[in-house]
Amino acid sequence: MILIDGKKVAAELREELKQEVSKLKSKINKVPGLTVILIGELAPSKIYVKMKEKAANEVGLKSEVIRYPENVEEKTILEKINKLNVDKSVSGILVQLPLPKHIDKQKVIETISPKKDVDGFHPINVGNLSSGYDSCIPCTPLGCYLLLKNFEKNLTGKKAVVIGRSNLNGKPMTQLLLKENCTVTITHSKTKDLKGECLKADIIIAAVGIPKLVKGDWVKKDAIVIDVGINKTDDGIVGDVEFDEVSKIAKAITPVPGGVGPMTIACLLKNTIECFKKNI
Ligand code: NAD
Repeated sequence: MILIDGKKVAAELREELKQEVSKLKSKINKVPGLTVILIGELAPSKIYVKMKEKAANEVGLKSEVIRYPENVEEKTILEKINKLNVDKSVSGILVQLPLPKHIDKQKVIETISPKKDVDGFHPINVGNLSSGYDSCIPCTPLGCYLLLKNFEKNLTGKKAVVIGRSNLNGKPMTQLLLKENCTVTITHSKTKDLKGECLKADIIIAAVGIPKLVKGDWVKKDAIVIDVGINKTDDGIVGDVEFDEVSKIAKAITPVPGGVGPMTIACLLKNTIECFKKNI
């Protein structure tokens, strides 16, 4: 079994991005800017935002976090986004999810300019990705894709099973695998024989949110397994894959933590730089 080391691949990607930012700075005396909007006091959101801010600073991006209290009016957020949309020093805008109940998530997503939508959630970016056009790609599936490609260049003809159909993970992941000429099966909570589907797969992407759902006898020998899950349990953070069992069978597997997670943040930085380059 080969351990797909997301921490290492993400560190390499961040180093490349750092060099790119430095080149941009010396060439045009400008650096890409990432603005994150954080609403409320949710502990995990605060941690994620801090990690994003730190990573952005480390590669030399201009990073800004705008904080609002839990009871902020939706109108205030939409007005702020509209201002950021036309601010030339801002290349990427990210509104940390989840939002308080009184704020309409879809309205917020649709207000962000698709050209600055570093999360890739705007319907224009979603449509472009599914049409095979250039688009901003959601960070976690992009991270999974880069890990896969780093491990195996040619994915053509492989049978891929994606577990989970969320807009955040499963659906964009499916599009990326299709683009690579995989034969993709997308599975979900109502799938009848998940084990049977997984047993056919050369590639399994588990993005479910159920600790250790994918067992050793669900995976065929030589499968590549990418575990997106981040689940808090009494044993600490675990993925959606029973690592101890599956790692004995599969050809390659990502660990949790240290697999997809670090790639997600690195891809946010990558998306910010891409948006900057497209917008100048
Ligand atoms: P979600 O709740 O939006 O979607 C879960 C999906 O799993 C749904 O489509 C549902 O149909 C499917 N599902 C539920 N039960 C199932 C079952 N028994 N069998 C098959 N499918 C089932 O979740 P999400 O936002 O896509 O996140 C999934 C996991 O990925 C979570 O653990 C989350 O914490 C993690 N995550 C990790 C990162 C990262 O950077 N590594 C980023 C985002 C999310």
